[in-house]
Parts: sequence; C-alpha cells; structure tokens
Amino acid sequence: GRVLLTGGTGFIASHVLDCLLDHGFDVVVTARSEEKGRRIVKSLDASLGKKVSYVVVENIARDGAFDEAIKSDPPVDYVVHTASPYQFFFDDPIRDCLDPAIKGTTGILKSIKAFAPNVKRVVITSSSAAILNPPHHREVYDENSFSDVTMEQAMDPDHTYRASKKFAEAAAWDFVAKETPNFDIATINNTYTFGPIPRSLSSANNLNTSNHRIRDLMEGLMREKIAPTAPVFTFVDVRDVALAHVRAMIIPEAGSKRFYVVGGFFSNPRLAGIIKAAHPELADKLPPQEEIDKDDFPDGHWKFDVSRSRKVLGLKYTALEKSVGDTVDSILEFKQRM
Ligand code: NDP
Repeated sequence: GRVLLTGGTGFIASHVLDCLLDHGFDVVVTARSEEKGRRIVKSLDASLGKKVSYVVVENIARDGAFDEAIKSDPPVDYVVHTASPYQFFFDDPIRDCLDPAIKGTTGILKSIKAFAPNVKRVVITSSSAAILNPPHHREVYDENSFSDVTMEQAMDPDHTYRASKKFAEAAAWDFVAKETPNFDIATINNTYTFGPIPRSLSSANNLNTSNHRIRDLMEGLMREKIAPTAPVFTFVDVRDVALAHVRAMIIPEAGSKRFYVVGGFFSNPRLAGIIKAAHPELADKLPPQEEIDKDDFPDGHWKFDVSRSRKVLGLKYTALEKSVGDTVDSILEFKQRM
C-alpha cells in the first residue's frame, strides 16, 4: 500500500512515518520546501529511504494546494493529514492559523475526491482541542464531546488554535456528509503530546510546541519557579498517537469514527520529578525538591474516557515516566549532534 502523509516535517508526522514504514507501507510526504523534503528522506536508513518520497506543498491554505501532490504514480491508497499550525502566537489569526487549518483540511479532501479515486480512507489529526470545552468542563469527556468555541472567540489569541482544530474537524465531517466521496474519514483527537523529537529536526528553534515544557525544565528555565501546568493536565506519548493513526487507517471498523487519545494525567512538578530521577546530573537545572513536591494537579479534575481507542484500535498507553524519559534522551542526543 501507498500513503500520502501531509506535514512530513512535523513532530507527530515523523512518528507516523516510522510507524507506516514498520507496517510495510510506501509513503509520500508533503513538505513546505525541497530542502525540508530532502532532510526527511535523508534522516532514514538507506533501505527505508527508498520507500519514501516527497512533494513540495508550500501553503496548504491555497486553493488546489494538494492537487499535484495527490496525483501520485503509483496512486495512493490512504491519506494521513497532520499538517496544521500548532503555535500560540500568530501575526494574523485568519491567515496564519484558521485558514491553513480549515482550508488545508477541506482542500485535501477536495483534491482526493477530484484526483485520487483509489483512496479508501483519510485519517485526520484533529485534537483534544476539538473535544474539550473550557472553562465549562464536562465531568467526563469522550468522542461524543465537541468544543463550543465560536469563530468570534477564535479572533482572541487565547482561543485561535483550539478553534482552528474544532472548525477544521467540523469542516471535514461536513465535507463527507455533503459530498459523499468514495473514501471515509477517521479523526485522531489526541491530547498534549510528548515524545522523542524528529530525527530530521533542523534546529532547536523548531522544537514542536508540546515538548517545550520538557526542554524548558532541562534548560533551567523553571529552576526558580515552575511554570503553572494549567490549562493542560493530560498527555499522551507520540508513539501511541502514531499507532492510533496507522490503526485508524487500516482497521475497517475505524471508519467514520473519532478517537479520543489520552495516556494519562501529568503536571509540571511531576515532569520535573521524573527528569530528576532519570537524570540526576540535570538536578541543578531543576527546581528544588520542595518545589517539585508542591504538585499543582487540581482537585476534582475532569476525567477522560478513551475506551473506544482501546477497543477499536487496540491501543495500550505508554506511561508518563517512559514518555518523558525518552523525550529527554532524544533532546540530549540532539544537542550532542548539533
Ligand atoms: P509540528 O509543528 O511539529 O508540525 C506541524 C506540521 O504542519 C509541520 O510539518 C508544519 O510544517 C506543517 N504546517 C504548519 N502550518 C503549515 C502551513 N501553513 N502550510 C503547510 N504546512 C504547515 O506540530 P505537531 O506535530 O505537534 O502537530 C501535528 C498535528 O497534530 C497538528 O494538526 C496539530 O494540531 C495536531 N496536534 C498536536 C498535538 C500536540 O500536543 N503536539 C496535540 C493534538 C493535536 P513546517 O515544519 O514546515 O513548519
């Protein structure tokens, strides 16, 4: 089988790529430049590199952005769409976040419908942001929950990203309902994701957003004061997220479903404690033990129900200790290499 994977340079995509290769797929990745595409292929062992090619898609928000990428020879059987801006600072919320998220998603579905009749399923990286409804949290969240965030709120930088994910996912479900294409879709609604950084990462400045707090702890930025964990207290390991994408792609019953994907709870003090235990040599960068012991995990925190991901996708979740430990190891290894 052959898969088109968008946003190939990304943190999550780099693990989806590894997982697809483990499952024997050939993969075409999209990247924003030739240089980025080449880096991805070069980061793989030669034998695996032969199974991977790239196409340049500069701006996913442009009409027809994916028309050429999807016309692959031999044709692709599946698409995994991960490309979407994940930052919290945007010069222009519409141009820099909402358009690439929403038009990127409807755009790829349009291109597939028009030019890729072989595609059976499209797996879309949505987010827990499309599920959770802060500040009016439900007691328990599962895949039936949808955020109430509005387009008006999306213009406020505190809400732009989460709105981009909610509206992008909603647009995808609308598309299949109205256009009845030959393919079905599945969404992965993963929460805040930790895990080893991509082998193809070009510079420390490009470290993905959700690994920043682990890096900040390692670099002593929280030695004086641990940043508040809020608002996110749930995590998942990136390798579990990658497997969720690949299983949602190949398991027939996963079609037309959302999958809420959460490994457990965390807090910044707990991250600091895990890093200290695994790497005593980093202790002088980390907050003192009495600060670590002041866990800020809130009483009465809402719960998550990810039983569908266990039942349908057979996911088993990686523990926080391993996820954080492997993330730290990958950052240390990256620093040695650079
Ligand atoms: P990264 O920032 O590492 O990856 C984002 C990817 O999208 C990169 O390949 C990036 O390209 C590409 N991209 C962003 N904006 C554009 C654009 N305008 N045009 C073309 N490509 C673009 O983040 P993650 O791997 O964490 O995120 C991947 C997906 O997972 C996103 O959809 C995100 O919303 C979702 N997600 C992430 C979570 C997390 O905690 N990490 C949690 C839940 C969902 P380039 O490298 O060239 O910038």
